[in-house]
Amino acid sequence: MDTGFDVINPATEEIVGTVPLTSADETDAAIRRAHAAWPAWRAVAPGDRARLLRRFASAVDADIENLAQLEVTNAGHTVGNARWEAGNVRDVVEYYSAAPERLFGRQIPVPGGVNMTFAEPLGVVGVIVPWNFPMPIAGWGFAPALAAGNTVVLKPAELTPLTAIRLGELARDAGVPEDVFQVLPGKGSVVGQRFVDHPLVRKIVFTGSTEVGKQIMAGCAAQVKRLTLELGGKNANIIFADADLAKAAATAPYGVFDNAGQDCCARSRILVQRSVYDKFMELFEPAVKGVVVGDPGQESTEMGPLISAAHRSSVASYVPGDAPVAFRGSAPDGPGFWFPPTVLAPVSPSDRAVTDEVFGPVVTVLPFDDEADALRLANDTEYGLSGSIWTRDVGRALRVSRGVEAGNLSVNSHSSVRYWTPFGGFKQSGLGRELGPDAVAAFTETKNVFIAND
Ligand code: NAD
Repeated sequence: MDTGFDVINPATEEIVGTVPLTSADETDAAIRRAHAAWPAWRAVAPGDRARLLRRFASAVDADIENLAQLEVTNAGHTVGNARWEAGNVRDVVEYYSAAPERLFGRQIPVPGGVNMTFAEPLGVVGVIVPWNFPMPIAGWGFAPALAAGNTVVLKPAELTPLTAIRLGELARDAGVPEDVFQVLPGKGSVVGQRFVDHPLVRKIVFTGSTEVGKQIMAGCAAQVKRLTLELGGKNANIIFADADLAKAAATAPYGVFDNAGQDCCARSRILVQRSVYDKFMELFEPAVKGVVVGDPGQESTEMGPLISAAHRSSVASYVPGDAPVAFRGSAPDGPGFWFPPTVLAPVSPSDRAVTDEVFGPVVTVLPFDDEADALRLANDTEYGLSGSIWTRDVGRALRVSRGVEAGNLSVNSHSSVRYWTPFGGFKQSGLGRELGPDAVAAFTETKNVFIAND
């Protein structure tokens, strides 16, 4: 192992642990072990693989409070959110535990014999995770991959490795063989890069920035490596004049400031129909000022700190001294990487804060005139991950949700993730889908076998 990496509590700036950094040679060795473990893992009877995954889900369930507290300390997530995130891993592992016994092929009628298709596992899958949602994003990759009979090497983000390491221990305790699911903390440029370059890794699941995602896509091209990308977002929250304005305004802070805005699904561009713009701002202001920012371990806290000093500087660059701050909430002075919920208006569609993924608690508000104008503004971005539409008109809800170029839309709601349904982005927000009933297919190859009659 290289020298260790200090893990910092972003709410206190204290060092809470040191995690070893896996070297390139150690990564290669882990990949070889994962490859060697694959034939036995894929040969495990489907019912037995399902049972092992259910035991893993139970182990996560029994450890939810511990996992949540680790995430509060390591990532500054509010304790309520962290419990939901740990519960999401349990749910996702449990959901995909049903898959091994349902990996059906097809028998397709052809002349001259019998034709069968098989869903074959790929081999070693490399899962690369960002720091903003360390637990769920890991689970969305490793659970369907393991269920389909692949082995997994998982790289958590440098800043937030603790819960992934714990999930690796829980998998082992539940009986998942050590080399079938390995967690390798380390640098993206070392461990992540070896996943991409190593010929025995047959698929990469990458969640992170669009910039790194493009490099990974180029790296995978060299070996025609399978790839799922979950990248950035700059999502619109479109509020029509006929909406329940009080509800839209009261919930809009949760749509963007949840996880301190460090959320690829954050609705960081609010678009409001011009006729209700003033009314909306009047209702939105107390909602923003009322967001409880502070110690993420307190049950009543709604927003914690940003992940690091460097990230706070990046977020702050979008709110310079002359920024059009309409109003903002409060945040503790420090220690800790705090930043207050901040609303920018009036803004122009070409402002940096409107075009870039700020990834912090900063939201812009723009007026629009009609449906066509709303769609033009909503789609005026290279991203296409999620978004919300607020209206009481069902026809409009349908028209606008079909018109927004994004993978995950909600009407009169800010929720983006339901593990039963597919999740992923249009345009530069990604490639492929995670979650939902079809995710397992993304971890298999279809093999066609023909047997002649004579
Ligand atoms: P990042 O791209 O900097 O890093 C993501 C992961 O990739 C980390 O584990 C990092 O170590 C690794 N990495 C970095 N360079 C690498 C390389 N050359 N080869 C292989 N791996 C490498 O992203 P981040 O700052 O950790 O996370 C924030 C970003 O993630 C935001 O853009 C956010 O929108 C995005 N995100 C997207 C989704 C989604 O589902 N679409 C979900 C969460 C976060």
